[in-house]
Amino acid sequence: MAARCSNVLGLPGEELETFIKDFTAAAERDPFATWLILPTNRLVRTICNKLDQQNIPYLVSRICTLKGFCENYFEENRTTTRYLSPSESTLLLEHVLKDNKKDLSLFFTREHPTAKTLENLQEFIKVIIQRKVQFPECLLDLQGDKSDQLDRIIRKYRESLHDPDLVDEVTLLEWTIKHLKRTDGERFRDIFMYGIHRPLPLEEDLISLLRERSVTFRCFIPSGIDPDVFADPLTWAGKIDDKSNIRTASSLRNLMTGIFSQEEPIDTENSVRLDLFPSHHAELQAIAAEICRIHNSGVPLSDISIAFPELKTEFGNIEEVFSDFGISWNASISRRLLDYPVIRFLVGIIKVVAGNYAREDVVRLLSSPYFRTGRTSLHLSPDEVDLVSRHALVEEGRREWQMNLDRLHASLTSGTRKEIHNISPRSVERVRDGIGSLFELLKELEGKKSIREFISAYKRILEIYELGSFPERDIVDNLISRLEKLSNNPWLFQERRITTDEFLRVVQTLGDDSGSIPVKDAKGVSILGIRECAHQHFPYLFICGLVEGAVPSLTTRLPFTNSLENARMGTRSLADILHEQEYYFIAALLSAEKLYLSAPLVEGGKPLLSSAFFEQVRRRCNPEGWMTVDGNGVPCSRSTLATKAGELIGTGLTCQAVASLDASQALDDLVDRINMEGFFRTGLSDSSFDGILSDDEEISMILSERFGPEHVYSPTSLETYAECPFRFFLRHIIHLEELPDVELNLSARDRGSVIHAILTTFYRRWRVSGKSKVSLVTLPEAVELMRGIIEEELARHSFDSPLWEATCAQMRGCQHGGPGYFERFLEQEAEEEGSPLVPSFFEFSFGMERGESDDPESFEEAVELTGGNASLRIHGRIDRIDICPDGFFLIYDYKTGSQHPGTKDIEAGKALQLPLYLLAYESVSGKRGVAAGYYKIRKEVEKRVMLCDETGKDLLGSRVRISPDLPGTLCRSRDYALDYICRIRKGEFPLPYEEVCPNPYCEFRSICRFDRYRVFEGKEVA
Ligand code: SF4
Repeated sequence: MAARCSNVLGLPGEELETFIKDFTAAAERDPFATWLILPTNRLVRTICNKLDQQNIPYLVSRICTLKGFCENYFEENRTTTRYLSPSESTLLLEHVLKDNKKDLSLFFTREHPTAKTLENLQEFIKVIIQRKVQFPECLLDLQGDKSDQLDRIIRKYRESLHDPDLVDEVTLLEWTIKHLKRTDGERFRDIFMYGIHRPLPLEEDLISLLRERSVTFRCFIPSGIDPDVFADPLTWAGKIDDKSNIRTASSLRNLMTGIFSQEEPIDTENSVRLDLFPSHHAELQAIAAEICRIHNSGVPLSDISIAFPELKTEFGNIEEVFSDFGISWNASISRRLLDYPVIRFLVGIIKVVAGNYAREDVVRLLSSPYFRTGRTSLHLSPDEVDLVSRHALVEEGRREWQMNLDRLHASLTSGTRKEIHNISPRSVERVRDGIGSLFELLKELEGKKSIREFISAYKRILEIYELGSFPERDIVDNLISRLEKLSNNPWLFQERRITTDEFLRVVQTLGDDSGSIPVKDAKGVSILGIRECAHQHFPYLFICGLVEGAVPSLTTRLPFTNSLENARMGTRSLADILHEQEYYFIAALLSAEKLYLSAPLVEGGKPLLSSAFFEQVRRRCNPEGWMTVDGNGVPCSRSTLATKAGELIGTGLTCQAVASLDASQALDDLVDRINMEGFFRTGLSDSSFDGILSDDEEISMILSERFGPEHVYSPTSLETYAECPFRFFLRHIIHLEELPDVELNLSARDRGSVIHAILTTFYRRWRVSGKSKVSLVTLPEAVELMRGIIEEELARHSFDSPLWEATCAQMRGCQHGGPGYFERFLEQEAEEEGSPLVPSFFEFSFGMERGESDDPESFEEAVELTGGNASLRIHGRIDRIDICPDGFFLIYDYKTGSQHPGTKDIEAGKALQLPLYLLAYESVSGKRGVAAGYYKIRKEVEKRVMLCDETGKDLLGSRVRISPDLPGTLCRSRDYALDYICRIRKGEFPLPYEEVCPNPYCEFRSICRFDRYRVFEGKEVA
């Protein structure tokens, strides 16, 4: 007669077939009352698959883990009690904390407890319950404010579960035990329990009850040589009628169970290999290459498995490396919902509203491919929204978007802002209308609402986006069903009204749970955690990431407690944790026929120590490495092949590289790319890659036409050519443009515009009031007028930053800093009251459509300057022209930056503006230009006259240097300009001959080959 209670002791994985056979035989008699309880879900699935393959009938619910047993028992016996998912229990815990906030000061840094605090509290509660800790009494004299608050949280949380009759993942075990005890008559017929290792105290209670309530109870207990790892008093096993030990003392598997306790070498007969790799990525690549090799030798991928210490964090790496090698794979657990891009997009919708429509959030949302996939009537281009909103200086806020876009539109249609490339009033209208409709939709998520109202508003928005069209429908459905479940849970939020930010936290918490969408490709490689290996049988197993800190991961500390408190609570010691991890490692070693162990040496620049477990295997088994095994003919990843081909081509072995090329990569294309970087884009500019297009007749023809005699140039664009022809090419030929930043202050360009506008307005109004020059007598009146104008101009801009405050103070002047820019300017003007030169024209434009702020005397025709047989047409805007009654004039260019060109630059043809403007106004007015200079408007106001003849010097009456040959200088400047135009027409846009970038502020530095990072990486000498 069979014993009622029997224990079998054996090596992990042994006797499993017998247990399965006995279970199926017993289940045939009474399938509902016969249970097979296993330690891991993976083992449950393995056995179910095996029975399916053998066509053996069984009840799926009766093969389960201990937790699965509780879930089944709960579902079959519950009446009104409801089960809370892990994310719902997090929400409930947060709710409890918030409701008791005033008594829980230690758990709040701001308004909400952090996600980490909630996670730690859940861990703490779990340990207290599963280990049956009498908290806080067990702390004795160590009790204090912290333990009181923790105790309050546990009590309140339990009450919140109790009143609406709820159980969560942790209290489910308690519920099952209580229920079993209450229902005296409940009996199970045959229970087979396989491979449970050192259960927790609460689990022991359940096992004891099951043993008592069953007709027969048969248990397989893993055992081995190492007493620290395997010895178990088996107090939970109660009275045993029969006990057997099936270990074979001399077998390799038995010896492996003593890997940590004995010293003798173990002969693994080449079944174990071990190696170190430069990084985790290299380790995964080596594993993938070895898998390809094994698979090519005829082993199906389904016979190969890889175990990771922490699987959840590895999905991204696995996806990247395995798809590169074309290896299919499966995993029984899935990533968090929030790790799926589609879920991040959906959460991003709420984030936009919770973040007050921040510009970056809105552009990010629109840039998502999911936004474009969803069938929405909003036709918004993310690039256009990005560009337009930057120019509109939008930062955040629904109203600010609308106001700033309106303002930009008005300025574009009124002509006050003409220099915005690629932005037309129509594009602003498109953005304004599209954004308006989008925000109208999202408005539903604003304000305070009940959770139900939020969920239905959110679902309405998702419906408008027609989420059915997303390929990841199952993932989206998962989130929606979680929300719907929450919406039907009256106990959690009742009718409490929450903010959008709180709703965002709710959705994020729901998304924090695994997606229950396991990655499945049954024929692929199995990916699993190390603990899942116990009692399995793998023909090939790789265990990777064996570094100190990960395997073993040793920490005794429970969150919120110190080691003394841990000791009083009776939680696990360091030795307990070590031995438990040794057990799982040994069980993994025993699960494989062929075993590969590996570890990375460095990660993110940080050196890593290989795991003590790894070293112990190396020491006792002395295995071979596997990195170099059969390197020839091993299939490589697409990226490795490309690197190899590149190396071969780099060393001149171009033909040999062909074999390494992926079908999608053309050799010509690769060679072109290598030559482009290694040859053409180095040294002197002599190819089209460095802006020399003169060899291409078609291009030269197009350029000659485009920049023909009718083309009108600005002196500034020709200066750009003079400084760096390649920059001219990028800016004026292919029209590249840097995206503007949204500034917290005026941009340098806008600051210049404001200063120009103030100075122009001042003199216009000053002259309208009948005045001519500013003198010492009229200075106070001028200052008064200027102040009013400054205020008007500053009021057009609205920034909310200390930088803006400082800018305003610099312009207005202040008590500490003294007079502002403009008062200093007027003082400077007053010093010249004796000169007959009178400020007469301001923002005098020629060759351009006259704008609102341009001088009324402006001249719309372009000015033609002729020299020898050639001529050029120019346009421009002269900041200020001072004229004297004798028909002489002087021009000023206001400069708001710290640098301006010098006379040497004018002589070298690098600074063309002043000489060409002098020539242009002479041509327009028939007057004679006698001087030109820069007027620096900064903290120190300064006039610098760069060109001046003797008449000019007399008229200015101050110390200025006379230009030795002013007419000659002007002619030479014109000739330089003509030469540049000639080269532009030919298609010559080289980088500076000196191979030194002349402009550290160039907007194209990030794409220019003189960029210091490119130089650094390419070891290029610039
Ligand atoms: S970064 Fe310097 S060298 Fe390159 S395009 Fe700009 S100015 Fe020319």
